[in-house]
Amino acid sequence: MADMADKNPSIVVIGAGVAGLAAAKKLKEYGFNDVTVLEASEKVGGRVATATLGNACVDTGAQYIHGTSEKNPVYCLLKQSGLLNQFPEMGEEAFYSNKGHKVDANFARRAYEAGEGIIRYRGSNTGKSLGEHYAEKTQGMIDSVEDNDKKTRMQSVFALVGKDLLIDVGASDLHKISLDSWQYYINMGDSVNVPGLMFQLVDMLLEDFPKDRLLLKREVCKIKWDGSFSVAPLHDEPLPAHTESASEEKVRQYPVCVVCENGEEILADHVIVTLSLGCLKAQASSLFIPSLPTEKMEVIDKLCFGNIAKIFLEYEEAFWENNVGTISLIYEDDTPASVSTNKMQWLKNMQYFSVLRPKERFGNILIGWCPGKIADLVETMTDDELSTAITDHLKMFLGHSSIPQPKSILCTKWRSNKFMRGTYTFLPVGVDGQVMDTLAQPLVGSQHPDQDLQVLFAGEATMKSLYGTVQGALLSGHREADRLAAHYKKTLATTSATSLDKQV
Ligand SMILES: Cc1cc2nc3c(=O)[nH]c(=O)nc-3n(C[C@H](O)[C@H](O)[C@H](O)COP(=O)(O)OP(=O)(O)OC[C@H]3O[C@@H](n4cnc5c(N)ncnc54)[C@H](O)[C@@H]3O)c2cc1C
Repeated sequence: MADMADKNPSIVVIGAGVAGLAAAKKLKEYGFNDVTVLEASEKVGGRVATATLGNACVDTGAQYIHGTSEKNPVYCLLKQSGLLNQFPEMGEEAFYSNKGHKVDANFARRAYEAGEGIIRYRGSNTGKSLGEHYAEKTQGMIDSVEDNDKKTRMQSVFALVGKDLLIDVGASDLHKISLDSWQYYINMGDSVNVPGLMFQLVDMLLEDFPKDRLLLKREVCKIKWDGSFSVAPLHDEPLPAHTESASEEKVRQYPVCVVCENGEEILADHVIVTLSLGCLKAQASSLFIPSLPTEKMEVIDKLCFGNIAKIFLEYEEAFWENNVGTISLIYEDDTPASVSTNKMQWLKNMQYFSVLRPKERFGNILIGWCPGKIADLVETMTDDELSTAITDHLKMFLGHSSIPQPKSILCTKWRSNKFMRGTYTFLPVGVDGQVMDTLAQPLVGSQHPDQDLQVLFAGEATMKSLYGTVQGALLSGHREADRLAAHYKKTLATTSATSLDKQV
């Protein structure tokens, strides 16, 4: 247990994404008063983010609640706020073939559901790839069909299911994804699309947090831990404890010193790091002094950080029917065995478009989705290149040449964003989700290893049961706040967050 004389430890949270904000909010609820959040960018929310397109506010990051049950704290919070009284209508699915005609939606939907049933299999310790499993199982179903034409149509829909999963995971190749990816996953129920609402969660997390303790444009470049740092009484700059000017008075010692790119130094008893896995991959080796333990570095290396692109296309007039919610493009020669991306044929992976509904709120906006390396590629393309290529592509599938160019276009750039470096974590073949527990392990100081929680880790990549989700990020923040509260034997002043956690 911590030194009980030290009731007001200084806690620094690095990152104002959902994990960081949830940790900060809960720490305040526990009664910790010296909590500072440092955020590198100029805005809060991290991967829960919005942008303006035309008159609409669109979600460039998360927009689905993965799990509409009381188990999901994100669902509960948005519901409490009255925002989810009515789910937005999803609309109908429309399927088109590369031969330029509509595909029978009933057939496509049934085949799609059959494919999903196979691909959503939750393997446990199989050591296999999702691609291997999916190719094998779908082949069994295809072989059982006699009609050759039906066989072809079926396998092309199965391929579509595989390509959609690449978007869910952010990966480039089904054969690189572990079949055991979801073995520890908590199923929180069906997903629901809540365009324009997710950012409200960020506002809710920020509600009672003191604005002067949330510091934006503070890119942390060093975390010095296992040290002894103090603030010199007559200087602004923190000085090491042994420096002469700090010698006379009893100067408070801190084990951690967080250094920002602008030269600012902030001393802390505890730091909660919520950087994305992508940022840890890029920076962990230089960020921490002393270095992270080898087993943590190995985990950061082994886990994959994927990418997706969301390309928002705004039109003067809708060229889709009013009731349409999604448009899926099917290549008739695709097979489930070959689901991977090829940069040379990047448009082949632009096969899923969703309509932002309702029209009264968003106007005429389609979102084109693409995964992995294709997303990395489209981030480097100009709006004109994207706009022309996607328009030709849609013309080919929808079979009418009158499809106009979008009047405006917005492509997300998560991979090139220095403070994200991708979208979400996934498990490659051969890596067990338990490694995320290693990533979540706090670092303790060498002086008092039993008492000294110095650097703690939160963020979606630290949650083997919910990685890649907003609720995973939220609960990881709560977990670390709880850890510090247990350390100081604090009990929660308010009950809401704890009771939500306990339901999980
Ligand atoms: C395109 C996209 C779509 C998604 N769709 C969904 C969805 O529909 N449903 C769902 O549940 N989840 C979805 N997710 C995943 C979900 O958004 C994330 O899992 C979650 O928001 C991650 O939160 P976090 O706090 O762990 O990390 P982040 O949001 O990445 O927060 C980390 C913060 O740290 C900051 N930072 C980075 N480096 C530094 C530094 N050196 N110093 C200080 N600060 C730094 C970053 O700017 C960022 O604000 C999506 C994500 C993306 C990108």
